[in-house]
Amino acid sequence: MSATDAPGIDSRACLNCDASTAGLYCPRCGQRTDAERFTVRNLWKQNPNAVPQADHGLLRTLRDLLLRPGSMINGYLDGRRVPYVNPFALLSLLAGISAFAYSSWPFELVVATDGMPAERAARFAAFSRHSFEFYSPSLLLYLPLTAGLTVACFAGVGRGYAEHLVLNAYLMAGSTLLMLALFPALVVTSGGPDFAQTWRYGILALLGYQGVALYRVFAARSSRWWSIALRTILAMALYVVMLTVIPVAFFELVYVRL
Ligand SMILES: [Zn+2]
Repeated sequence: MSATDAPGIDSRACLNCDASTAGLYCPRCGQRTDAERFTVRNLWKQNPNAVPQADHGLLRTLRDLLLRPGSMINGYLDGRRVPYVNPFALLSLLAGISAFAYSSWPFELVVATDGMPAERAARFAAFSRHSFEFYSPSLLLYLPLTAGLTVACFAGVGRGYAEHLVLNAYLMAGSTLLMLALFPALVVTSGGPDFAQTWRYGILALLGYQGVALYRVFAARSSRWWSIALRTILAMALYVVMLTVIPVAFFELVYVRL
């Protein structure tokens, strides 16, 4: 046994791999040994892997995010961070790809403007187009509000605001990945009778994923599944209201006056 791995006053178990170490970095996996719970103050220095790299867990992150979001996100929050891409970097990357794809393809959107004066109808059509193209990046703007919403709905389950920022960033990244998967189906149906239906089913799939993943994140921390299920339904309902009300308010109060 060498001096560095001898149990001493300063040695502790790595939160990522359980190796015992006294240094600032774990000798086995490389994670910082001062990793701790996320708080608003330490959020930026606690997040490793801020630059997504294909050889540094990007594919594993995407796979686990879709297939086992509950255990992956809880594991990340509780200290197993080295295998995964930082949630904010991941969301920014996927939202950027989504915005690029959706704004570069000439989708034929049909916007209902019946009964509107011509100028307002034109503005509403343009606004609807922008909302469609930049749906994924707009989630980034909603992130602080969404985290506040899940903090309120899951009060008492033992996660702080910064942890809700992290878990919602991962959930939004997962739904943005589904948004990218939806892109080819929308390209194929664009201009045809099935386009609106495809879009509706796509949005339902995104919300379904977010709801199930949210439930699994918190169900792992509570024995009362029905309480977590009700809180999840409430959180998703408020989330949908937020995504509906805020764009309408933004259009009425800001966009029409630009
Ligand atoms: Zn380690």
